[in-house]
Amino acid sequence: MEEWIEQLQNSVNNLDKLKQYVNVSPEEEQGIKTLNTQWGTTPYFASLMKRDDPHCPIRMQVIPSVKEKENRYGIPNYLIWKENRATDEVRPDSIARQYHDRIAFTVTDVCANYCRHCFRKELVVDRDLKLRMDVDEGLAWIQEHQEIRDVLITGGDPFILSDEKIEYLIRKLREIPHIEMIRFGTRVPIVLPQRITAGLKKVLSGFHRVPIWINTQCNHANEITETTAMGVYDLLSCGVNVGNQAVLLKGVNDNVDAFRELHQKLLAVRIRPYYVFYCEPAPGIDHFRTPVEKGAELIRDALRGHTTGLAQPMYVIATNIGKIPLMPDYHIVDKNDQEYTLRNHTGQLTTLPNIPE
Ligand SMILES: *Cc1c(COP(=O)(O)O)cnc(C)c1O
Ligand code: SF4
Repeated sequence: MEEWIEQLQNSVNNLDKLKQYVNVSPEEEQGIKTLNTQWGTTPYFASLMKRDDPHCPIRMQVIPSVKEKENRYGIPNYLIWKENRATDEVRPDSIARQYHDRIAFTVTDVCANYCRHCFRKELVVDRDLKLRMDVDEGLAWIQEHQEIRDVLITGGDPFILSDEKIEYLIRKLREIPHIEMIRFGTRVPIVLPQRITAGLKKVLSGFHRVPIWINTQCNHANEITETTAMGVYDLLSCGVNVGNQAVLLKGVNDNVDAFRELHQKLLAVRIRPYYVFYCEPAPGIDHFRTPVEKGAELIRDALRGHTTGLAQPMYVIATNIGKIPLMPDYHIVDKNDQEYTLRNHTGQLTTLPNIPE
């Protein structure tokens, strides 16, 4: 049996299995025992958890918390609102649309790791929202909509599908003349790098008119290992770009050191930071959210000028009307007819001529 299938079959998804990896705290035990929720991770990802630290950034993303029962600020029916599923445009359940030229195509609700902060919690983790995820129905809709040039395949985790299903999706999309790029959103490179097998590489590799881009989700430097580095290298060798979409999570990465180390370490394993998302107001994840300004402050204080421009993600809030950038705005201090006054990351000032239009 392939190692990745074994990893999934041996999912760490009950108290006894979890106890093999960590000394479970009373709060964690209470969360596991009282929440009616899908949870669990791979033995590989579980092995990265800190045995004696309940504040371990990986434990916080994996182990259910009683705090998930609190929901003061979550938007009701969050996913329906967020993905514009209640609008007038008739679309299959699998197609979420916020933009003219691109869509998100949900092909599964299964994941290798059920992230406690998941914004698709209602569908993937709590499972009280049911969607019809019919791949052919989605493909037919995409075929009919010539304005769509970019398809983002998501889930759940689409790389949990078999090689055959992934090959079918890619082949069918490439046959549609108006499709110019295919993207996958998958946590596999982080939580299940064993999935990047010879078989998957065969499916992804080769020069084609329509390229494949991957974005993974890594939220803390502790999630990155030698195995991650090898998996990412394999994907790049197939001609597939690998980016990262982190989520700003209170207690996990909302401090300057953790935030900078995450972005530097991503580049060290060839993953290009793409987005940092504000943690969305989905139900039951209030405890992960910071003030909105926090992400911009972290970019200002941890990244801009402090490390290479390659390590700079865009900080955005994902809303029902698209992603809205929330980048720090401190650089232009003053402007008059003659010149701009600019500030750098250490507070130094400089001036530059203002060219009239
Ligand atoms: C995030 C998202 C996209 C892709 O957005 P990019 O900014 O192009 O990465 C497309 N459609 C939906 C519904 C999305 O949520
Ligand atoms: S891998 Fe993605 S879809 Fe799955 S639980 Fe995590 S955040 Fe949600």
